[in-house]
Amino acid sequence: MSQPSNVPEPQLDHLYQEVILDHNKKPRNYKVIPQPQLHSHGLNTLCGDEYFLFLNTSPEGKVTDIGFQGSGCAISKASASIMTTLVKDKTIEEVKILKDSFLDFMLKDGITASKEKIGRLKMFEGVKEFPVRVKCATLIWRTLEDALNNIHERKE
Ligand code: ZN
Repeated sequence: MSQPSNVPEPQLDHLYQEVILDHNKKPRNYKVIPQPQLHSHGLNTLCGDEYFLFLNTSPEGKVTDIGFQGSGCAISKASASIMTTLVKDKTIEEVKILKDSFLDFMLKDGITASKEKIGRLKMFEGVKEFPVRVKCATLIWRTLEDALNNIHERKE
């Protein structure tokens, strides 16, 4: 058991570990959308996680299609995969509320987000004990934020 000291491996709840490993192995919505309405590219230089995100929306402002591609650690990839499943078919407004709730939950101390607000994203709670890995979990949500704001590059 030797971990690189700069990138500790969070010990997550066993059940959640399984979910994360499953999403890492079989990422959902892992695809390029050609000529997407919204897109962005996110890079976490600390860990080397790098993803491209693509979205299409309906005139009513609903996310009709979402896809991502790239590579990175299990936490970043699972986070991306889970994000796409949660965001698809939601309105942009609902997506923004979920994104803000999750980022608050991950980045602010003492925030105990209600389960209704972030649902299964609570599984990333264990990551909070490892500040260097928090960016792995939040990268795709930052990238989503950028895509919604028409920003196409992020490097952290
Ligand atoms: Zn990572």
